[in-house]
Amino acid sequence: MLQDVGFIGLGTMGRPMASNLLKAGYKLTVYDIDGAAVESLVNQGASAADSPREVAEASWVIVSMLPASLHSLAAASGPDGYIAGLRDGATVIDMSTIDPDTTREIAEAVAGAGGAMLDAPVSGSSAWATTGELTIMVGGDENVLERHRELLGHMGTNIIHCGTIGMGETVKLANNLVAGISMVAVTEAFALGLAKGVDPNVLFDVMSKASGNCWTLQTRCPAPGVVTESPVNDEFAPGFMTDLMYKDLGLALFAASQEKIPLALTAIAHEQYAATSRRGFGRLDFSAVAKLLDGAPE
Ligand code: NAD
Repeated sequence: MLQDVGFIGLGTMGRPMASNLLKAGYKLTVYDIDGAAVESLVNQGASAADSPREVAEASWVIVSMLPASLHSLAAASGPDGYIAGLRDGATVIDMSTIDPDTTREIAEAVAGAGGAMLDAPVSGSSAWATTGELTIMVGGDENVLERHRELLGHMGTNIIHCGTIGMGETVKLANNLVAGISMVAVTEAFALGLAKGVDPNVLFDVMSKASGNCWTLQTRCPAPGVVTESPVNDEFAPGFMTDLMYKDLGLALFAASQEKIPLALTAIAHEQYAATSRRGFGRLDFSAVAKLLDGAPE
């Protein structure tokens, strides 16, 4: 019965993740507000639903991969939300990166309707979503996780239990603030080096073998032509959008404010992504933060 899976949110990440579940033999019912996204999964063998409620009516497991808290809430609630159609004993796995308090709020409503919920946000690029190599951070009952480990294994290679419901999200926010800050740092290193005439290939080579090495350097080197897969070589096509990184850092800052923890560098990086978005680059990959440092002095 666990073969009946629903998937809500078929964007950059959700589409390849859902595709992997289809390839693994799951019977998939899908929903997205974007009809073209639904059609692409239907062409691969999924059934289309007209609402999250219809997804739930057809599924024992409902996976969601939505942009932000308000989208997760919208998909869960109301007469067309998946909670309204939830089968008794079904499981909801929300893989979106959202506010941990919102996760707990949805989980309570899911439990009230006779279901169980896991939060399971992911780390990794759309390329890793395609190869099924994401890292998945799971919050919620460990027994529920074990029941669904096989399904998650078709989307990720590292599936780590982080604690009670909401803890997956908390771990994800802590991880992403490092990626958000380090991206800004890497763009500053390249802006300085290139302005002073350093060969970008040399800078990359040295940083890769020195203390400046990091994930954002290896996947998102901001100098064109240095790292083949870097978004800079494809007009900053996402990847992971600037607006999503802005959201994640905002969530980290909010969570920190609840504990009165000063996240000074997170706050600065957050403002840099706001500036990037204001320049019209919100839907580009977050490495477009490099554009803030474009241009030579007069
Ligand atoms: P995306 O914007 O590409 O996709 C989101 C999809 O959700 C879109 O297809 C959109 O039409 C759909 N959607 C929006 N509201 C909806 C609703 N109410 N009901 C149904 N569908 C709805 O975003 P993405 O890059 O796939 O990211 C999804 C989540 O994964 C985000 O929380 C993001 O922070 C996280 N994430 C993304 C990446 C990445 O590299 N892109 C990496 C790790 C985590």
